[in-house]
Amino acid sequence: MSSAAPSNIAVQNHVLPSYLNADNLGPWGIYLQQVDRVTPYLGSLARWVETLKRPKRALIVDVPIEMDNGTIAHFEGYRVQHNLSRGPGKGGVRFHQDVTLSEVMALSAWMSVKNAAVNVPYGGAKGGIRVDPRSLSRAELERVTRRYTSEINIIIGPNKDIPAPDVNTNEQVMAWMMDTYSMNSGSTSTGVVTGKPISLGGSLGRREATGRGVFVVGSEAARNLGLDIKGARVVVQGFGNVGAVAAKLFHEAGAKVVAVQDHRTTLYDPAGLDVPAMMEYASHSGTIEGYRAEVISGEQFWQVDCEILIPAALEGQITAKNAPQIKAKMVIEGANGPTTPEADDILRERNILVAPDVIANAGGVTVSYFEWVQDFSSFFWTEEEINQRLVRIMQEAFRAIWQVAQDNKVTLRTAAFIVACTRILQAREMRGLYP
Ligand code: GLU
Repeated sequence: MSSAAPSNIAVQNHVLPSYLNADNLGPWGIYLQQVDRVTPYLGSLARWVETLKRPKRALIVDVPIEMDNGTIAHFEGYRVQHNLSRGPGKGGVRFHQDVTLSEVMALSAWMSVKNAAVNVPYGGAKGGIRVDPRSLSRAELERVTRRYTSEINIIIGPNKDIPAPDVNTNEQVMAWMMDTYSMNSGSTSTGVVTGKPISLGGSLGRREATGRGVFVVGSEAARNLGLDIKGARVVVQGFGNVGAVAAKLFHEAGAKVVAVQDHRTTLYDPAGLDVPAMMEYASHSGTIEGYRAEVISGEQFWQVDCEILIPAALEGQITAKNAPQIKAKMVIEGANGPTTPEADDILRERNILVAPDVIANAGGVTVSYFEWVQDFSSFFWTEEEINQRLVRIMQEAFRAIWQVAQDNKVTLRTAAFIVACTRILQAREMRGLYP
């Protein structure tokens, strides 16, 4: 965008904030296309749709820390609150060297849609730091986390915006965030983040919740397609908290996990990989690279014969380039935003079912909600209660979305957006504009 361009420029019906580059919208551009697809189904609420096309609030912070070698390093941090109509902001924080404002904006918007799709009482938010956490020592990681938390302190809080883990963040990072917020505010505030260690007000079942939700949605979708999980071949991209747990649950249900890709390598075994052994291996080495199995190329990964494909890594993985090669009958999106709109169209034409991220990976935030409720009441539930409630919420949400897809002859993604955006914009309309 040239400096002479007006601060708000319209591109394909969208008014773009001046801080985004119109030629390279990134994940936010994908999200905007998804909103366009749902707008015709919003009836009179379409009057409010522009609300969804811009974040309510986006905070960019400088995160300076002293490195172990005495130098000062500066990292870029973000916290974006996309929509707060239905409740406080909710969504994870990711640490990754490629994090951008466009990405965090899109992720925050997908949280608004996700939280509304499963009907937990939250708006959508997301945060991130542009840093490769693998390049930091543990002490540096702690300093980055604490400084970032102090910088975003002005907009987070148990009733304002509640962060949680995402890519490359975990229970320890949440404990540091909770402690920093609590020290700054002068009282222990467990409800400010979720995904905490059990010893600090964390919830049983939270660690496995996203992967478990992927399995529940995958099982529901398989049943609707008449596909037996037992014996089904599963391919998983990503072997972190989401991919590994989903792979384990499908493996336990009798499916064969025939290929797994992580950030370092791609492993293949047509007879089925030993998922528990791989998890044990990865817990020590931080990757599946070096685990004894056939290595295939990243390109071959997308062509592996299978019934179920689970992208559980980053955005933009299933594209117009590899979508024509995918052999699966269904794609269960463990990651946020793994499929581009062009790839969505190709998969639809090829009759491959896509269970979209906003429902398929909503198990994590659903148990985050349980954690937050337990923290407020200081009364903790059993793991059995948590998993039962998780399964019920996920099944009900999936079945409702399936019905909307059938009734309107649209994809599950558009159906999930219809359900969610209707809820968000109804709340928006009822609240009205103030001041
Ligand atoms: N980062 C997870 C997600 O993308 C969980 C968010 C949360 O629990 O707030 O859904």
